[in-house]
Amino acid sequence: MEKMLIFGHKSPDTDTICSAIVMENLQKKLGKEVEAVRLGNLNKETEYVLNYLGITPPKMIEKIEDGQKVILVDHNEFSQSVENIENAKIKMVVDHHRICDFQTSEPLYYRAEPVGCTCTILYKLYKENDVEIDKTVASLMISAIISDTLLLKSPTKTVEDENAVKELEKISGLNAQVYGLDMLKAGTDLSGFTADELISLDCKVCALKDKNAKVAQVNTADINDMMNRKEEIEQAINADIEKNNLDLFVFAITDIINSNSQAIVLGKNTDIFERGFNKKLEENTAFLPGVVSRKKQILPVLQENA
Ligand code: MN
Ligand code: MN
Repeated sequence: MEKMLIFGHKSPDTDTICSAIVMENLQKKLGKEVEAVRLGNLNKETEYVLNYLGITPPKMIEKIEDGQKVILVDHNEFSQSVENIENAKIKMVVDHHRICDFQTSEPLYYRAEPVGCTCTILYKLYKENDVEIDKTVASLMISAIISDTLLLKSPTKTVEDENAVKELEKISGLNAQVYGLDMLKAGTDLSGFTADELISLDCKVCALKDKNAKVAQVNTADINDMMNRKEEIEQAINADIEKNNLDLFVFAITDIINSNSQAIVLGKNTDIFERGFNKKLEENTAFLPGVVSRKKQILPVLQENA
């Protein structure tokens, strides 16, 4: 039997990778032939998680064959998915993002919940299917929830994420605060990356009416570290704007300790950002107190003001 492939979005984050592995485990327990794969390089946070747990990263793929059966986790927008996704047989989606431009030719299982993390939904799916959550699966799930909710501090966090973390702490034996801070800090070591890499590590393309925008985000323990590289980051952003014909590029540097962001904003439509946040950019930058979530606090603001 042909294997069904399971994957999350491009520029994979910890939730995308952990969700794929956790979903592979669940489907195998349910007797399905599946394989978790990934669509890009691991970031340092995810590397830390997999090293800590002694797990081999899923195989990397770039495109899929026509008719390949797939399960999507942590995304549904085709622009964030694998090359040739239009011609895949999507059998299942488990996601916590808005549904956008999504179409299939056949019926499918689609589970969307407005919770903080895909792994919180998978946690419920294990329970519903009466499949045991072992120590490794619990560790992967708790890592993903800590990552997506910034240790339960992001406004995307829900009571369900909190409850899952409580339960998963018991099974995994991990202390969410202690392990979580180490894990998040591992992801803030950005010293080895070029400016080009920094702006594409965690980047989402989004359409704002007829405008093309990208919103990239990095986590840091000190915004100044990143702002010291402002000039080269701006050069990289301007080159990307030119190359991909973008109208707006927002680069959010998020302080995970104090829960604020500094944005570097470029492109011919920075007015969308300025209107949305009611801020005048100074030297292409603005401080956004309390803003940590691209999904809840940046994208909707841009969309409403485009
Ligand atoms: Mn994700
Ligand atoms: Mn996620």
